[in-house]
Amino acid sequence: MPEETIFSKIIRREIPSEIVYQDDLVTAFRDINPQAPTHILIVPNKLIPTVNDVTPEDEPMLGRLFTVAGRIARQEGIAEGGYRLLVNCNRDAGQEVYHLHMHILGGRRLGPMLARQS
Ligand code: 5GP
Repeated sequence: MPEETIFSKIIRREIPSEIVYQDDLVTAFRDINPQAPTHILIVPNKLIPTVNDVTPEDEPMLGRLFTVAGRIARQEGIAEGGYRLLVNCNRDAGQEVYHLHMHILGGRRLGPMLARQS
C-alpha cells in the first residue's frame, strides 16, 4: 500500500483547508502556497501516488478531474481569460506530494509553459 500524504487528511477533513468542491471521486482545495491568483488542486479521493500508478479502472476519475477543472474555472471567473492545468510526475517534474493532483492556475498571464534553465 502506498503511504498516505497530507492530502488524504485534507480529503477526510481531518486538517483544515479551503475545499471548493468534493464528490465521490475527487476533492478540490486551494493550494497553500499559491503561484497565481487562482491556484487550486484537484485530487482523486483514492490514493494514487503518481501518473505512473494510474490504471484503466481509474479512467472515470481521470475524466472527472477535467470536468471539475472546467467547472471550477467558470466558478473562479477564469474560464474565458484562460488557465493552465498541470500534473507533475516524479522528481524531474518537481512533484512534492505523492498523491496524484491536477493544478488549476489562472487569474494572470502565466507566461511560458516551462521555466528556463539558467
Ligand atoms: P506538486 O509539486 O507535488 O505538483 O504540488 C504540490 C502542491 O501542494 C504545492 O503547490 C504545495 O503548495 C501544495 N501543498 C503542499 N502541502 C499542502 C497543504 O498542506 N495544504 C494545501 N492546501 N496545499 C499544500
